[in-house]
Amino acid sequence: MIAPLMPTYNRADLAFVRGEGVWLYTADGRRFLDFGAGIATSSLGHNHPHLVAAISAQAGRVMHVSNLYRVPEAERLAARLVAASFADSVFFCNSGAEANEGMVKMIRKTMAETGQPERFRIICFEGAFHGRTLAMLAATGNAKYLAGFGPCVQGFDHVPFNDIEAVRRAIGPETAGIIVEPIQGEGGIRPARLEFLRMLREICDEHGLVLGMDEIQSGMGRTGKLFAHEWAGIAPDVMSLAKGIAGGFPMGAILAREWVAKHMTAGTHGTTFGGNPLACAAANAVLDVVLASGFLAGVERIGDHLWEALSAVVADFPEIFEELRGAGLMLGLKCRIPQAEVQQALLNAGLLAVNAGENVVRFVPPLIVSAAECDQAVAMIRAAARHLTPASSAAA
Ligand SMILES: *Cc1c(COP(=O)(O)O)cnc(C)c1O
Repeated sequence: MIAPLMPTYNRADLAFVRGEGVWLYTADGRRFLDFGAGIATSSLGHNHPHLVAAISAQAGRVMHVSNLYRVPEAERLAARLVAASFADSVFFCNSGAEANEGMVKMIRKTMAETGQPERFRIICFEGAFHGRTLAMLAATGNAKYLAGFGPCVQGFDHVPFNDIEAVRRAIGPETAGIIVEPIQGEGGIRPARLEFLRMLREICDEHGLVLGMDEIQSGMGRTGKLFAHEWAGIAPDVMSLAKGIAGGFPMGAILAREWVAKHMTAGTHGTTFGGNPLACAAANAVLDVVLASGFLAGVERIGDHLWEALSAVVADFPEIFEELRGAGLMLGLKCRIPQAEVQQALLNAGLLAVNAGENVVRFVPPLIVSAAECDQAVAMIRAAARHLTPASSAAA
């Protein structure tokens, strides 16, 4: 008989009843170091006093009013995101897939409103992940996710990641824009080369295309910059955010430059929940922390520390781990043995991580993680690796 909770996930048999900082606790008192952060989402960790206070206070004032009225919390949040980014205007929604859908609509609308309605196609990349709605399945382009869900939504062309010549070849008279993750998350923590991102910017300028970035996972401080594209010294025209934006409260956002945003006039797009007072209070509280002086530099410093320690793990356990990749606190270990075995060993050692494509184990801890907590995690990874090391190679 089917479970009342629809069985669309392979869940670990663990239920957490409480969290504190980087730690999660089960009802029977076991604790785990959370280097998954609910898939790079609990950016301030668990039970963060400032975030909890902001949500509690807002819930006691007003939670939801709809977008029929002004929402001062949303106006403030949008102004802060505009001030901290390339963007001139922001649309709030409720999830990553929804943000990407809106981003695609904005790209298409920009072309339609500038006399180029035939340009609607978007270049995406192999290994991408953009979400699970019908159009985002098409943008993701993963045959496994598409199977059984009917005709694929039209308008997405896939080319190899980090291959600028393939991008040039894919541009045609119907191309409207490009959507890229600066670091592919679900695809296996695969960073775009910075030069590749700069070339995408150049190509979009050259051809009048809209450059879209999916920073749902890489954004909001995850890599030690507020947005990962800052490492390349360029900016997109439109960008999607979600995951860490409200520290675990469901929220998405689309940030756009004026030449794109100005076509989204009243009635062109909408949502009931998006940008409601409660979600915006949560996101404003996250911004209070992330934009505080020195916070992002701290993320970068802790990320470097974790990188060093994990590099040593790869060097010491070459039969388990092939490679370390990523940036800041968005790191992945590519495994030589099935990553599920590695993850089970990590779990046994008390560490939560997340799987990713290309047989990668992903480490995306809360941004408030300390160097000492990273050292604890690395000790657990070493303990797991020793356990996994085949006896034959240990004897050699
Ligand atoms: C998680 C993710 C999405 C989808 O977000 P949902 O909130 O699950 O819809 C899209 N793009 C990237 C890069 C993501 O990491």
